[in-house]
Amino acid sequence: FPLEGVGQLEEKELERNVVLTTLEKVKAWARSNSMWPLTFGLACCAIEMMATSGAHYDADRFGVFFRSSPRQADLMIVSGTVTKKMAPLLRRLYDQMAEPRWVIAMGSCATAGGPYVRSYSVVNGVDQIVPVDVYIPGCPPSPVALIYGINKLQEKIRYEARTGRSVVEDGL
Ligand code: SF4
Repeated sequence: FPLEGVGQLEEKELERNVVLTTLEKVKAWARSNSMWPLTFGLACCAIEMMATSGAHYDADRFGVFFRSSPRQADLMIVSGTVTKKMAPLLRRLYDQMAEPRWVIAMGSCATAGGPYVRSYSVVNGVDQIVPVDVYIPGCPPSPVALIYGINKLQEKIRYEARTGRSVVEDGL
């Protein structure tokens, strides 16, 4: 809408210098740029997850800092095979994380059981225990794939704050 009493030039100047946003969008921007994952390596995929934070891939540049306490973490990267014995502990750690919290299933084991899909001792997908936001395929996925998954989660957080709708409902 044209602003009353403001000329075209002033209006352009205002658009250039005034940032209008909502608190939800600011919170989403801050949260998505400072994700602190819980150190939760369960098997071989964890080696790739660790490499993500090394000097070469440098996940820190996206605000990703691994924490060893669930109280300080808002992202759980499930990297490895989830056994039935581990499942209740995984759920307990998830419950101890601060809200809002997110989960990435890294690799085919965490996504659907992987090569152990027929094993009596393995959970066929961590989404049977906790809600999963992003699935990353691969056995194991590379650090680049994990960083891509984190970027997708960041986009999801910002999209949901911007539109008030879930990416799943919108088929994205
Ligand atoms: Fe290991 Fe492959 Fe399972 Fe990852 S997906 S934990 S690399 S067997």
